[in-house]
Amino acid sequence: MEIAKVNQGIDLKDYNDVWIIGELIDGKVHPVTIELIGEGKKLAEKINKKLNVVIVGHGVKGITERLLHFGVDKVLYIEHELLKDFNTEGYAITISDLIKERKPEIVLLGATSIGRDIGPRIAAKVGTGLTADCTKLEIDETDGKLLQTRPAFGGNLMATIICPNNRPQMSTVRPGVMAKAVHVDYAGGEIEVINPKISKDDLRVKLIDKIVSGKKRVNLIEAKVVVSGGRGLKEASGFRLIQELAEALGGEVGSSRAAVDAGWIESPHQVGQTGTTVRPDLYVACGISGAIQHQAGMHESKYIIAINKDKNAPIFEICDFGIVGDLYEIVPAMIEAINEKHFLEI
Ligand SMILES: Cc1cc2nc3c(=O)[nH]c(=O)nc-3n(C[C@H](O)[C@H](O)[C@H](O)COP(=O)(O)OP(=O)(O)OC[C@H]3O[C@@H](n4cnc5c(N)ncnc54)[C@H](O)[C@@H]3O)c2cc1C
Repeated sequence: MEIAKVNQGIDLKDYNDVWIIGELIDGKVHPVTIELIGEGKKLAEKINKKLNVVIVGHGVKGITERLLHFGVDKVLYIEHELLKDFNTEGYAITISDLIKERKPEIVLLGATSIGRDIGPRIAAKVGTGLTADCTKLEIDETDGKLLQTRPAFGGNLMATIICPNNRPQMSTVRPGVMAKAVHVDYAGGEIEVINPKISKDDLRVKLIDKIVSGKKRVNLIEAKVVVSGGRGLKEASGFRLIQELAEALGGEVGSSRAAVDAGWIESPHQVGQTGTTVRPDLYVACGISGAIQHQAGMHESKYIIAINKDKNAPIFEICDFGIVGDLYEIVPAMIEAINEKHFLEI
């Protein structure tokens, strides 16, 4: 295989440290970066290595300084005016050059649009493998290798993948799965500014314009409350009721894939294995059976309330409070009760 050939004869002992490839959106740190720092710290401690975060951009030194409050050892800030906006080739070239030079042991990226775009390109450039969409990362106590676990075969089994002969060991991790690193007052660590050699000729993709969608962004990952509707709604207009309950609870609207496939709601609302992973304080599942692929995206919610007219629906096996009955009777009663403030605060 080509990759094996590229890395034939590498000495695994030359590789050190855990790297997080950080992500910025509209000048702010993407939440997945803080989640990866939390997870990366645990892995780095287990293998007795340092934790570094890579940030690519231009004029964002202030942001890199803020990252030092999350317990990282070093921020490697790749700074260049051509990298002010995200650019597939610019990011992939500069990050992979730095990996080749510094040789990290583990590299983690968010399984976001950016991470999914540059992750495989970087892996190919440095001659290693990549495990996409991991939901669990551990260190093998016997040999210190990274155990990268992700759902396989439609979520019916969890596959643990290792990268025994190539370095770095690379994974993308789904947003919302790992716990965030804790912010501390003390800013430890240091910032190293790296000025890459890169020219306009290296970048075939040109940013012509940015068009911001007029629609309100769905923010399921950050939501404290998510109210989701499924096929049990029977029709698109059922989501008006879900929206009303979500508003009464101050939350966001989620959905099962069946509701998205039926065209009742747009895909950014989908919760589950091929949708978003959420871990709110409260998840309310209305007319959702609780298929394993749906559970994969919400089972870590603090409290789960399920409303379903089938008492044998699998969702009742994982919920904290289950209501057997017709959602079209129960949800309006809940909205009324909340609006009359008869509900206890969670
Ligand atoms: C590779 C793969 C990836 C997938 N990824 C996802 C994913 O990310 N997210 C996801 O959700 N699914 C995913 N699925 C699909 C998943 O397997 C299920 O098909 C889907 O979750 C079912 O959606 P549902 O619960 O809304 O519908 P159903 O399974 O049809 O359940 C509808 C429920 O509504 C109840 N009901 C009906 N009427 C009422 C009423 N009036 N009041 C109360 N309850 C009522 C029924 O009793 C039933 O339990 C994936 C599948 C595959 C193969």
